[in-house]
Amino acid sequence: MQLEPIADSNLEQASLAILNPHLYGLDDAHLVKFESVLLHQNAANAFAKMREAAQRQGIDIAICSAYRSFDKQLSIWNAKATGNRPLLDKQHQPLHFESLSAQQIIDSILIWSALPGASRHHWGTDIDVYDPSKINRDGLQLVAAEYQANGPCHALYQWLLQHAHQFGFYFPFQQGKSGVSTEEWHLSYFPVASHYTEAFLCADLFKVFEYANFELKSPVMARLDELVNHYVKFVASVPI
Ligand SMILES: [Zn+2]
Repeated sequence: MQLEPIADSNLEQASLAILNPHLYGLDDAHLVKFESVLLHQNAANAFAKMREAAQRQGIDIAICSAYRSFDKQLSIWNAKATGNRPLLDKQHQPLHFESLSAQQIIDSILIWSALPGASRHHWGTDIDVYDPSKINRDGLQLVAAEYQANGPCHALYQWLLQHAHQFGFYFPFQQGKSGVSTEEWHLSYFPVASHYTEAFLCADLFKVFEYANFELKSPVMARLDELVNHYVKFVASVPI
């Protein structure tokens, strides 16, 4: 399959063209340093309190991924769109890259990765978490089995289902309630993220893409409305 050549992106121009560049991973000035990651101040404060409460009940929580820039998400996208990083189906089984059409590649990437500009990790409100006392960061795969019965992060997951909402966190990606596949490791700080979800504009992402270059850009732009509605706007909306 012929892939489009990648030219330099002009993300500075892109952020000048829209009202809220921080919603699309173009600006991290709204974030603070929290240990080794960047987070929204309110999310960082709430996470610190939640971690302390969990610790008092014998549960360890660590963050393995927080803020991610547009460029970082773009490099993940390009690696998957060129077959340089494996594409996995919903059961985490590898797909055969060579036999997929451009549209099938897009749909396959979106099972587990967001479009550049359309990841909740751009916001500093969303984190992927695991239990560092049961599994180390390098061994972690972020798959459902790790969070289900007998998995190393099961006790943590059960604790979060019961208590995360007390600190403003919830699971935005849930079966039947979101376009993104269920992610038992992905928490969102609802008081800020709910406003960001509302403020996110497909028209602004389209403007950003006019200044950016990435693999499969044309077929993505041709169905951007559908992709934003399904993968950004369709999320669980009420803390559980
Ligand atoms: Zn995540």
